[in-house]
Amino acid sequence: MLFLSGGTGTPKLIQGVRKLIPDEDITVIVNTAEDTWVSGNLICPDIDTLLYLFSGIIDDERWWGVKNDTYHTHDALMRLGCDERMMIGDIDRATHVLRSNLIREGKSLTEATEILASRMGVRARVLPMSNDPLATMIATDSGLIHFQEFWVVRHGTPRVDGVLIKGLDDASPTAEVMDAIRSSDSVVIGPSNPVTSIGPILSLRGVRSLLRERFVLAVSPIVGCEPVSGPAGKLLSSEGYSVSSRGVAEYYGDILDLFVVDLRDGVSPDEFDLPVVVADTLMTSLEVSVELGRRIICEIDRNV
Ligand code: GDP
Repeated sequence: MLFLSGGTGTPKLIQGVRKLIPDEDITVIVNTAEDTWVSGNLICPDIDTLLYLFSGIIDDERWWGVKNDTYHTHDALMRLGCDERMMIGDIDRATHVLRSNLIREGKSLTEATEILASRMGVRARVLPMSNDPLATMIATDSGLIHFQEFWVVRHGTPRVDGVLIKGLDDASPTAEVMDAIRSSDSVVIGPSNPVTSIGPILSLRGVRSLLRERFVLAVSPIVGCEPVSGPAGKLLSSEGYSVSSRGVAEYYGDILDLFVVDLRDGVSPDEFDLPVVVADTLMTSLEVSVELGRRIICEIDRNV
């Protein structure tokens, strides 16, 4: 089963799917446009969440970092006058240190991720979308800032005038990503932020046209008229889309074959230009995630 993922909504869904199929049968293409260097180390927030999910150590309350991690190094750096501007746990930092060492030795992000995954006992395939550096930048009333600055440091408060992905012209998807899409009959876009998590993957050269040849099912991250968490609403509006499941379907456009919307939306499938399934997508418990996963697998079996 192949997923396109950010670091919260889709991992929540995969947490349920893991109860239904073995990890060996799961491949995840992960957004890397939120990656950033902090204190000399490369942090890949979305890749890390997937690695921690598959190795059983994810903090699944916050959906970032390692459960019960400590912050001794972060606190010591603060005392030394170094404000990292994001909380980095000690165990989490070990991942970043090894990744950065591997990259400094000349390994690609894909190779570094594979090594990390194998040392963590991860049996699923976690594929960075690209080996090239990319950065989601947010145009705000106080200038162009990195997504991490917008969301983690400024808590999403600035006015958003637009979103751009720096580095896109010189970036390509990895061969592993393209092969994974080619060799999979279906692709699931989980309920991740369309603009900052899935948008960057879809923007990579050749990805959209390849997806058009596959059965693509997406789950809406909007429940009712707002996202469950994060800045997707503000970002969708800034791109000219309504903050609704319809807005998300329009954002994805012609790659979609089936769209899963939440029963709380109160919408009728006739309001969409594509086949729609109405389900409980609000994953407040593992049971809901498993049930949503079961429904998705059932729809794929029926359609592919
Ligand atoms: P990020 O990388 O941390 O921004 O995480 P993602 O992009 O993977 O996920 C963020 C999106 O997940 C937000 O737009 C949320 O609305 C959505 N989301 C989080 N939890 C749920 C849920 O339980 N159900 C649905 N439908 N969407 C969710």
